[in-house]
Amino acid sequence: MLDNQNICSYNSGRMDALEKLKLLGPATCFEPAEEVGNTGRVPSRSEGDDSAFIHNAVMPGGKRIALLKTLLTSACERDCAYCAFRQGRDFRRATFSPDELAALFMRLHKQGTAEGIFLSSAIAGGGPRIEDRLIATAEILRRRYEFGGYIHLKIMPGAEREQVVAAMRLADRVSVNLEAPNAKRLARLAPHKDFDEELLQRLRWIEEIRREMVGRRPSSTTQFVVGGSDESDVELLTTTEFLNRQVGIARAYFMAFTPVPDTPLEEHPPTPPLREHRLYQASFLLRDYGFLTEELPFDTGGNLPLESDPKLAWAQHNLAHTPVEVNTADRRDLLRVPGIGPVGVDRLLRERRRGHLRELTDLRKLGVVTKRAVPFILLDGHRPAYQLSLWPV
Ligand code: SF4
Repeated sequence: MLDNQNICSYNSGRMDALEKLKLLGPATCFEPAEEVGNTGRVPSRSEGDDSAFIHNAVMPGGKRIALLKTLLTSACERDCAYCAFRQGRDFRRATFSPDELAALFMRLHKQGTAEGIFLSSAIAGGGPRIEDRLIATAEILRRRYEFGGYIHLKIMPGAEREQVVAAMRLADRVSVNLEAPNAKRLARLAPHKDFDEELLQRLRWIEEIRREMVGRRPSSTTQFVVGGSDESDVELLTTTEFLNRQVGIARAYFMAFTPVPDTPLEEHPPTPPLREHRLYQASFLLRDYGFLTEELPFDTGGNLPLESDPKLAWAQHNLAHTPVEVNTADRRDLLRVPGIGPVGVDRLLRERRRGHLRELTDLRKLGVVTKRAVPFILLDGHRPAYQLSLWPV
């Protein structure tokens, strides 16, 4: 269980901007985004401890940057059942003004600590009011400080369409937290959020606006709280597939539910991190490998097996007795072989134009993980000789 002290625990009194960041930055632990971890750098005494709010983030194009993640405010009028910031919960809250946050970010940027910003918020005074303040912060960064780096802006529940347009003109990425895969599940997590009207509609607008935009178009993402509403993996992945195909999101983020003290779900069991991992693997199969949700290896409860990655589990049931000839198979079939990803398939198809692939070493050079692929392939008409271990996970 998360500890009250760890979530937000400053003494009362006036705070300077850096003190606020120490409260509001770590609070984004509830918001998975581009990051792959903290930067690991040791801050100087004058900088303070930035390790909890500067993240080593992978950008949409693959570049890595130091990303400042923070909330604009942790004051919230909503009562989401799982959330540390829900109204009435006793902890010290903090709020940045747009000027204050923009100035602080630029200070960190100039000293080389932060290269980009992820900006989210709790809701105080309505979603549109907070969206205005998020937009104002980004506007100050872009116009007053001429900051040209990465900005990720959260689109708040109930934000107006013109606000979504304004946010998309300023940001490189925007996101809407659906939290649950459908309205029924969201009612358990967040009884006063409207799944269709407040949330999903904003993702639809983002896609419409993106199509109308000329030049640079921001990408969009969403996040789900996994296990907090007893939803199944098939529910999460059905919605993810819909969002990929119909609403054009770049990716879905999954956050394993962790109970927070002094919330209605404090006794709800935590979700194993491995379930979150399997959901990521499955979501990439839907997005990048051409799989459909109904093909994935769900159990009778609609959940993925935890003990095996979903691509391997699918291949064990579908490919083991009909191996794929790597010299003739089409792209779709190659993508279904464990150990071969989209980049490996592209290289393999290119290499095939130059001649037959005969050896496992040929495949290794192309980036194929041969120990995973071998049980499912033919190489020039033959099963490659290979000492198999039991099915790898
Ligand atoms: S709106 Fe809900 S999820 Fe967001 S900060 Fe407030 S209580 Fe938490």
